[in-house]
Amino acid sequence: MTLVGGGPGAADLLTVRAWRALQAADVVVADRLGPVEILAELPPHVRVVDVGKEPGRHPVPQERINELLVEHALAGAHVVRLKGGDPFVLGRGGEEVLACVAAGVPVEVVPGITSAVAVPGLAGIPLTHRGVTTGFHVVSGHCAAAADPDPSEPLDAAALSCVTGGTATLVVLMGVRSLGAIVAQSLAAGADPGTPVAIVENGSTPEQRVTRARLDEAAAVAAARGVRSPAVVVIGHVAAAGLLEGTSERRLAGAGV
Ligand code: SAH
Repeated sequence: MTLVGGGPGAADLLTVRAWRALQAADVVVADRLGPVEILAELPPHVRVVDVGKEPGRHPVPQERINELLVEHALAGAHVVRLKGGDPFVLGRGGEEVLACVAAGVPVEVVPGITSAVAVPGLAGIPLTHRGVTTGFHVVSGHCAAAADPDPSEPLDAAALSCVTGGTATLVVLMGVRSLGAIVAQSLAAGADPGTPVAIVENGSTPEQRVTRARLDEAAAVAAARGVRSPAVVVIGHVAAAGLLEGTSERRLAGAGV
């Protein structure tokens, strides 16, 4: 089984190694996010199994995905598991590796361009910038990793200190639904209400859109603009409009301006 990270969505943000793995596949098990257009361009013998997860719709359970990978691999197929971004950044790739290893199926990993870094970058937002910040912290807005998640406090202590202390850029994936709670929790913990926030939807696709606001207005502005998943939320001074004067978001997005 080859576990492939497909990048944030644009077909040309797939790595050469990922492209080669897809060409050599018998079966591709694919998600909703990532380079879905590429699936239509695969050689005709490649069987595509769509296990895409739409928020709010019944997804194929993770256990079933694991079983599918093992079943196809044990049947002798060259299986590619294509995931959005990088398979090991909030993508449950580790679970799929463990399931294959437990069944005696060897696994090769092809890393992908993670949306956590690439989607802000496509919008002209550097996660670190000399004189502004020297680090970034990536978290899930779903707090699914916590043993006892509290939806009113999505941020753990390390993430919260990025916002309150300005110590590092905070990058939130799957954070649209919990944005209001993230803002409330941050302000209650003493964050500067003027902290810049940027939300980048559908990064690398023609629908890419950037919304900027102050922290204390971010949830209201996002609601007014109808911000939807998938989106990457960036909190910190690198998210300020005009930080990289002279760069064009459209040019950076490769739109050929
Ligand atoms: N493994 C993936 C992340 C999976 S979690 C990666 O490395 O990118 C899914 C979340 O990633 C989405 O809810 C959203 O926050 C983010 N995401 C993925 N693709 C995106 C895109 N093209 N534009 C904006 N956000 C994206």
